[in-house]
Amino acid sequence: MRIDVVSIFPEYLAPLELSLIGKARQDGLLELNVHDLRTFTTDKHRTVDDTPYGGGAGMVMKPEPWAQALESIAASQMPANSQDEPTKKPVLIVPSPAGERFNQALAYELAEEEQLVFACGRYEGIDERVIEWADEHFTVRPVSLGDYVLNGGEVAVLAMVEAIGRLLPGVVGNPESLVEESHSDGLLEYPVYTKPSSWRDREVPAVLLSGNHGKIAQWRRHEQYRRTAERRPDLLPEFDAGRLTRADRSAFGELGYDVVDGQLRRRPDGDLPA
Ligand code: SAM
Repeated sequence: MRIDVVSIFPEYLAPLELSLIGKARQDGLLELNVHDLRTFTTDKHRTVDDTPYGGGAGMVMKPEPWAQALESIAASQMPANSQDEPTKKPVLIVPSPAGERFNQALAYELAEEEQLVFACGRYEGIDERVIEWADEHFTVRPVSLGDYVLNGGEVAVLAMVEAIGRLLPGVVGNPESLVEESHSDGLLEYPVYTKPSSWRDREVPAVLLSGNHGKIAQWRRHEQYRRTAERRPDLLPEFDAGRLTRADRSAFGELGYDVVDGQLRRRPDGDLPA
């Protein structure tokens, strides 16, 4: 995969040289280029912002430096996958609190792309015409990291590149570890423990020391249900409950959920089994 990031603070992206993503770059699994938006300005002060039309607080990022930067990225060659395949438009991700929410499903979807371009906004954001114009060269997706406002898109890009990059084949040493993670199947991960088995008067759950793999798997599944019901009940209506075993349904029953038409339904408060 190739990733291009445009920012007025290219040094903000330096952590992408570290750890698994840095190693993936060294190993050639990920090509990542960071571009300074100011190199695409033409005036002496390298201006990237101006006052907003219609008045109001703050500054808005000027369109032309963005067009120059994005055109130069669009013009640079992608290593062709297959000569027969039609050239696909790269995906341009515009971090924005007004975008679709980033989540694990979107990370998986974007990990399938050959090229991603990230446009880091600052100030009050980028002139909206850039987003419309960019549609000629890119599949444009405004994406939000969450329902809060950051000072710029760089932190959002760090999070998204890490979440996407670790899904690329070969980046995480043991691909099994991706399968059981939080959000991979719509649930949170079960709690994990390591040695020593007894620590400050706290014991590791006995089942994990039993060597009984069936029981361990069931305990972990039920811990996923419990943790998700406690911390993120909003995830449960989307969970595919159609294939749950009787023991799994009963575990959800103890948490106050019934399976109705393949979906989990919360019983009215207090209506738990006797
Ligand atoms: N005026 C904008 C609004 O209210 O939607 C917020 C602009 S914010 C101060 C500056 C930049 O930070 C945005 O252009 C975007 O790139 C980035 N940003 C802020 N919050 C974000 C979030 N939740 N997710 C992704 N990017 C965000």
